[in-house]
Amino acid sequence: MRGSMRGGARESRMISEKSEPVFDIVVVGSGAGGMTAAIRAADLGASVLMVEKASAYGGTSATSGGGLWIPCNHLMPDVGIDDDRDSAMAYMRALAGNDVPEANIAAFVDTGHEMLRWLHEATEVRYVAMEHYADYYQEQPGSRTGGRSIDPLPYDARRLGGEFAAMQAQHRQVRVMGLMGYTNSEGAILLSKAPGWRKVIARLVWRYASDVPGRLRSLRSRRLTMGNALVGGLRKAMLDRCIPLWLDSPAGALRLDQGRVTGVEVTRRGRPLTITARKAVILASGGFEHDQALREAHLPKPTDERWSAASPANRGDMLRAVQAIGAATHLLDEAWWSPTITLPGEDRARALFTERSMPGAIVVNRAGQRFFNESTAYTAAAQAMFAPGNLPAYLLFDARYRREYPFGPLLPGGMHLDWLQKRSVRRGLLTQAPSLGALATQLGIAPAALEATVARFNGFARAGRDEDFQRGENSYDLIYGDVRISPNPCLAPLAEPPFYGIEIHAGDIGTKGGIACDENAQVLGSTGGPIPGLYAIGNVSASVTGRYYPGAGATLGPAMTFGYRAASHVCGAPTEAGGIR
Ligand SMILES: Cc1cc2nc3c(=O)[nH]c(=O)nc-3n(C[C@H](O)[C@H](O)[C@H](O)COP(=O)(O)OP(=O)(O)OC[C@H]3O[C@@H](n4cnc5c(N)ncnc54)[C@H](O)[C@@H]3O)c2cc1C
Repeated sequence: MRGSMRGGARESRMISEKSEPVFDIVVVGSGAGGMTAAIRAADLGASVLMVEKASAYGGTSATSGGGLWIPCNHLMPDVGIDDDRDSAMAYMRALAGNDVPEANIAAFVDTGHEMLRWLHEATEVRYVAMEHYADYYQEQPGSRTGGRSIDPLPYDARRLGGEFAAMQAQHRQVRVMGLMGYTNSEGAILLSKAPGWRKVIARLVWRYASDVPGRLRSLRSRRLTMGNALVGGLRKAMLDRCIPLWLDSPAGALRLDQGRVTGVEVTRRGRPLTITARKAVILASGGFEHDQALREAHLPKPTDERWSAASPANRGDMLRAVQAIGAATHLLDEAWWSPTITLPGEDRARALFTERSMPGAIVVNRAGQRFFNESTAYTAAAQAMFAPGNLPAYLLFDARYRREYPFGPLLPGGMHLDWLQKRSVRRGLLTQAPSLGALATQLGIAPAALEATVARFNGFARAGRDEDFQRGENSYDLIYGDVRISPNPCLAPLAEPPFYGIEIHAGDIGTKGGIACDENAQVLGSTGGPIPGLYAIGNVSASVTGRYYPGAGATLGPAMTFGYRAASHVCGAPTEAGGIR
């Protein structure tokens, strides 16, 4: 059991051994949204306690890409992209208007950019706009070809002192050889083999190897990137403000007094405590990704908690706690979907963000048919998999692809580094066969149909035009194309044996349905009005993006924005609605 180091002094003033602790605000869960709420509330003068169920802080947020999707953000002009409120509202309405109240959408659009400016002023977290990271639904009104998705700059773990060790490690899928993190911008250069990619990889290896004091301590890189950079900077801001963080401290039932939430039960050091929250409890406890019973009750089938790439501690505890006091819920059948694969010995799935998209990979169903544009974004990809007849689904590629691109834990075969992998991964991950027909038979796909599909696809690849699904024809598709391939960087034939295949799952990187909230993140009761003293943000709440995933960072951007709004509302500090430049 650990508490924050520098939060100890203030904490001990508030808790004596005999009395029950009292704070203005209790934040449940230590993801990026919860931390944003805690820091903002402390800056507005509130005493704040954060409780975290796991023995490491940061949740899925720390393991993530750390990208934020923030319309009209102040970094967009740096990459020459304009934005305006009308476009942002039109795009959000087109995606979420049927499922989400207009006031919530407007609250996100109007406060996201304010939250980001505040983040840059109040913390050491820094972002840059990603010029080419296009919104995921380019065909919708108000979309942008880049700039709304922003990438965290690396953060130096030494700023955290001993608290670094207690942070959730980055997800394995975004560490080169399981060791070195990279920024989203570096990752895009590496994958697309854009000019300079060799320099990028050489720099990553050099930085890692030359940190001799770091290497003497552990294998974990101290150049924090993606979600670790975000959570690292937020944790430092909490330390600077002496905000206590209790690890290994799951929250449970909420305490109600005359209809108002006045506290929450927490188990700390095996001791049950009721913590009084004078102003509010802010729930930031993630989704129900790893609770099989809740998945089966709400998500489309088939569903399996092993197919989620989210943090295993997220099991819907607080969703159950609010349902027990009559809170309303919404969109419980939705998730931030993504095709995933699972590897033996890993505690969470790996999301296939890029592998489908690289040229020379296709996805087919058992009938041997392609059924979507494989370069589309991950939520749309998994939604296509759920359509009748498409599961089980298989990702297939050839020897050229295997030589050129990473796949899951496997580095490009051309680098001859497979010996770094466990034998089970090296030999067991992919099914391999000398011909497409043989591969189809091994995987249980209709062989003749698959051969016909690949012949048709190879024709498209050579012509540069996917007549069935228009792959490579919009800005998003091109992010993970290979710039060396023409005429269409997203299309290459599957022509060189051996051929490889793997079953992929309709998994997720988080669930996105949950507690219904108003525009200030106040939890709504089933009779309509807010439950005083109770707020919810992030994946424990119903998403402001409805059933869609507007762009990279659209889960963390709203989680942090509504964390900021919740804290401002509790503390009576208005946010500047509007004010977009
Ligand atoms: C590989 C990967 C990459 C991703 N990249 C991005 C990206 O770039 N941009 C983006 O927007 N999204 C990304 N996502 C999704 C994003 O990480 C999540 O949607 C987001 O982190 C959810 O935030 P949250 O605060 O709701 O939950 P979390 O960050 O998971 O935080 C919830 C915390 O609450 C704790 N908790 C749970 N129950 C209790 C309890 N009873 N008591 C106390 N604490 C509790 C959990 O242990 C956890 O620490 C990615 C996800 C993955 C897996």
